[in-house]
Amino acid sequence: MSYIRIAKASWDGGLEKARKAYELIGPVPEKDSHKYAVLAAGQLPDMGFKSTKLSPKWVVFPQSEVMFEYTLDESKANHHILQEVPAAPGARAVIGIRPYDAKAIQLTKMNFDNKDYKDPFWLRNYERCTFVGLAINEPSSTDFSTSCGTGPFAEEGLDVLLVDAGDAFIAKVLTDKGKKFLSEAGFAEEAGADAAKAVEDLKAKAEAAITSKVSYNKIAGKTIMDLYDAPFWKDVLFGCINCGTCTYACPTCWCFDIQDEVKGTDGVRVRNWDSCMTGLFTHHASGHNPREHEWERTRQRFMHKLKYFVDKYDAGLMCVGCGRCVEQCPANIDIRTVCNTLNDF
Ligand code: SF4
Ligand code: SF4
Repeated sequence: MSYIRIAKASWDGGLEKARKAYELIGPVPEKDSHKYAVLAAGQLPDMGFKSTKLSPKWVVFPQSEVMFEYTLDESKANHHILQEVPAAPGARAVIGIRPYDAKAIQLTKMNFDNKDYKDPFWLRNYERCTFVGLAINEPSSTDFSTSCGTGPFAEEGLDVLLVDAGDAFIAKVLTDKGKKFLSEAGFAEEAGADAAKAVEDLKAKAEAAITSKVSYNKIAGKTIMDLYDAPFWKDVLFGCINCGTCTYACPTCWCFDIQDEVKGTDGVRVRNWDSCMTGLFTHHASGHNPREHEWERTRQRFMHKLKYFVDKYDAGLMCVGCGRCVEQCPANIDIRTVCNTLNDF
């Protein structure tokens, strides 16, 4: 494992060099928070950011993605043929992605890239990315990532882990992709022998600051129907207004809908984020809706994350403990309470 020291004074210049080889994505201010965005020429990521309302899952799973296009205009070549839209060219570096968001991409990868199905659109987005993570030195009070198989300094899914060490970043090089990014940026100063210890000390401090936890050790041993029919659901979820905020903010929610949009003789087939919280999500053409009531939709979200995923993949919860849904739910519905209730039922 090698460590590179990046003096903060040379950070901006290095990113400008890296820009020649990568499209850069990073955190930028937005109202009272931050968001991940493609960085325009001369724009730099705000590495002092605390949190983002949305995760950067859109880099692999865009909110709206054109998959195919067609034309009925017979004066044009290939008319009446549905054609795949070519992949966007070039490599991308996702700067400042948080460790729990990188882990979330690995969890969603189980859905989009498995032995039965490989989603070409998701995969081509994923493969062009280099993930340059930023460790969380001061976790928020709603962060419960350490009980969800990740943590403020976790490395899974990252190519480089940057650690803010005051006047410099210590870069832990994790993959060849990460090594290439640092080389393109001209970051080559070997960190001193004490770098590994400095990172471990900051990691221990950050992990100790996380006091919020969930337990799910007993969930796998319970039957689906016992949990599905449990009497607590209506009480726990009655306040949910099905606004969908939690699903869009969540880095592990992957539901989508596919629509054809037509203008004149031209059309596109688009994949859009969808949400199990909306009534139309499961509304059958017959008029029947198997999740007729609001609380049933909310139960679906929690059963998927806390039971179905656990049973199907044996990879823990479909939740990385980022705390976004806890912070943003207008009805104060808290997945930590639901998870612990399921575990103790
Ligand atoms: S749980 Fe909260 S954020 Fe999610 S849909 Fe219900 S009210 Fe909205
Ligand atoms: S369920 Fe909530 S805490 Fe868990 S990953 Fe999604 S947004 Fe984060």
